[in-house]
Amino acid sequence: MKIAVVGTGYVGLVTGTCFAETGNQVICVDIDERKVEKLNNGIIPIYEPGLDVLFYRNVEEGRLKFTTSLIDGIKGAEVIFLALPTPPGEDGSADLKYILKVASDLGPILSQYVVVVDKSTVPVGTAEKVRAHIAEHAQVEFDVVSNPEFLREGVAVEDFMKPDRVVIGTRSDKAKSVMNKLYAPLVRQGNPVIFMDERSAEMTKYAANAFLATKITFMNEIANLCEKVGANVDDIRRGIGTDSRIGKRFLFAGIGYGGSCFPKDVQALAKTAQEYHYDFKVLESVMTVNNLQKTKLLPQIKDYFGDDLKGKTFAIWGLAFKPYTDDIREAPALDNIKALLAEGAKVTAYDPEAMDNVRNILGTQINYAHTQYAALDDADALIIMTEWPLFRTPDFEKMNLLLKNKVIFDGRNVYELETMAEMGYTYYSIGRQAVK
Ligand code: NAD
Repeated sequence: MKIAVVGTGYVGLVTGTCFAETGNQVICVDIDERKVEKLNNGIIPIYEPGLDVLFYRNVEEGRLKFTTSLIDGIKGAEVIFLALPTPPGEDGSADLKYILKVASDLGPILSQYVVVVDKSTVPVGTAEKVRAHIAEHAQVEFDVVSNPEFLREGVAVEDFMKPDRVVIGTRSDKAKSVMNKLYAPLVRQGNPVIFMDERSAEMTKYAANAFLATKITFMNEIANLCEKVGANVDDIRRGIGTDSRIGKRFLFAGIGYGGSCFPKDVQALAKTAQEYHYDFKVLESVMTVNNLQKTKLLPQIKDYFGDDLKGKTFAIWGLAFKPYTDDIREAPALDNIKALLAEGAKVTAYDPEAMDNVRNILGTQINYAHTQYAALDDADALIIMTEWPLFRTPDFEKMNLLLKNKVIFDGRNVYELETMAEMGYTYYSIGRQAVK
């Protein structure tokens, strides 16, 4: 099949590459000229494990191409994916300007029947808006389908190639059969393709993200209570996660969720609820709790150092909002860095993948270390913000020589309390008693 993917970010590039891998002819379109130039020169602008192998194979074999021209990109396409940004607008609702602009641009240049697929996360009713914008100037028949994406950054290729399920919102039989054909190679193991109407598909994506954000937040509140009552949240996690109704995943307590999806999607769903005069109390609480949770370690840092952090230097391990990605959008590390800088402290950070992105935002406000150990040199304490595997079993002997104080503030519960106690560390974590 000939496919166009408009928007070549985390979702668009993975979508395009994976559909090329299943034998389709794919053209990815992006307005960012530098990004397209990089891609045409074989440089992948994001870090996503496993993407490189598929990318190079499909580029080499001529199935995956990149352009800045929408009209060239969609020529002959049977399916056009919209993988465009839907950032929060000023009022928290999803800003549809990118999607609707492309929809308007598509109208006059469509020359045959095509299925236009919303892959972006968009509020209920967007498929109808996209249809209306295209229809304004379209001379040909077309369908608009909602096909929300559930991939996780860091395992995006695996998620895309072996999705738990594919959700497709359409009432058109013609579009249904095109989408079935396209996804057939990805669901050979029997994972379901679930058809529904467009509005339900749009809602499904928000319900999934809001549910997961709620699960994390619930566990974070349990953790906060554990600290007060003298319980250990890791034990609670094991104790409840083994219940098949609850499940093991998304039960890790920490300094809150971040990333490009959960915060904006929870906010956008809350906004939808407001628009429809529904008081969605759980969502409002999730947002409030998560915002507080992000800087939860700060009082503990003050508990150790006193209120005056001026001139203290903190080593930060981990900047990305989660491991295996370079994405720092809404990363709790950024909130903590800002809070520490506001207190007059200094920060030296290390992250295996996300430092360039942070440098673009914070520039020289903080120092950047080449290795995790270099970050510790002369630091007053270590703060862990992202649970990258390489932080799990560090060389503690080496750390002892570099850190000024044997103290760690761990926002991701990376170490066992017993290990920290045996090594004589002062150790603060989430939902567990401090080791002092
Ligand atoms: P992104 O910001 O990484 O990529 C969007 C791309 O669209 C950028 O490269 C941008 O230059 C391009 N673009 C903007 N306007 C354009 C135009 N007029 N024509 C062509 N290209 C244009 O965004 P993303 O993370 O890939 O997310 C895209 C959508 O998918 C969002 O709605 C997001 O909520 C959703 N989503 C994201 C994830 C994720 O993990 N990142 C997962 C599921 C769903």
